[in-house]
Amino acid sequence: MTNNILEIKNLHVEYTNKKGVLSVPEIIHAVNNLSLEIKEGEVFAIAGESGCGKSTLAKTIIRLEDSTAGNIYFENEDITKEKNLKGFRKKVQMIFQNPYASLNPKMKIYDILKEPLRINTNLSDEEIKAKIKELIKEIGIDENCLKSYPHEFSGGQRQRIAIARALILEPKFVIADEPVSALDVSIQAQILNLLKKLQIDHKLTILFISHDISVIKFISDKIAIMYLGEIVEQGTCEEIFKNAKHPYTKILLEAAPSFNKKKENKAKLTGDLPSPANLPKGCKFHTRCPHCMPECAEKIPNKTSFSDTHSVKCFLYKNL
Ligand code: SF4
Repeated sequence: MTNNILEIKNLHVEYTNKKGVLSVPEIIHAVNNLSLEIKEGEVFAIAGESGCGKSTLAKTIIRLEDSTAGNIYFENEDITKEKNLKGFRKKVQMIFQNPYASLNPKMKIYDILKEPLRINTNLSDEEIKAKIKELIKEIGIDENCLKSYPHEFSGGQRQRIAIARALILEPKFVIADEPVSALDVSIQAQILNLLKKLQIDHKLTILFISHDISVIKFISDKIAIMYLGEIVEQGTCEEIFKNAKHPYTKILLEAAPSFNKKKENKAKLTGDLPSPANLPKGCKFHTRCPHCMPECAEKIPNKTSFSDTHSVKCFLYKNL
């Protein structure tokens, strides 16, 4: 049986947003009582609309943001409040959405890749050079490009370099936050194929975050659907794409052009995503749900399980 590499229990992330000197600060509830488990070697995707808390969750896992309550365990160690993160940082790396902003424009590619090795390892200059050359070849960039600056590359090439930087310390766990959404559609497939190959070759576990259901279907083993900081449904790729249960998941799938050929039956999300500063009572999806019942506005649904991997939070399934 495969071990959990990451486990999150009842995580809350809140922060205060003050718009102006005279305005009343509002509390943003970005992640709400979220629990999940990710097993070694799998690609676990988180899907949801913009503003649902996906990126805050990613930054909290990698400790770029602090949690308000709950626990994060990495390889069974509670890293929620851990101060010495040097070992953790070697094992967990992040690929960001925007390859234009995530690479230092003043550094040559060789130096960008050398810096983490210099800080985190005792490798000699020769060993560093050999490691960088090997990895840059693996990600499909010519080694002559190591002397160039980021602005000399296309978006797709920059994202390859950002992937190399994330992998140079040989991490076990990589968080990819919308890694292809800033790229042309024609380039997206190349980067996804590269990520998939690297995941297999390096035995990586990947937490893959995206709003794009087609991209998620291509790369993931398991999927969690996030709405207003909560996981409302999770399952294997097959369970979600063939047997989605939650009304929100069904609407997300039907709204994706590649999954719904019958445009006349296409379900639509009505209304805007409520503000995380003013969360709806009861089921957080009740203000937009086509199946909303009176109890949905009052009570929070518990989890109903359909298998060891597939579960949903919705009153439609409470008696199963
Ligand atoms: Fe819709 Fe009610 Fe289910 Fe929430 S609990 S998704 S409002 S049916």
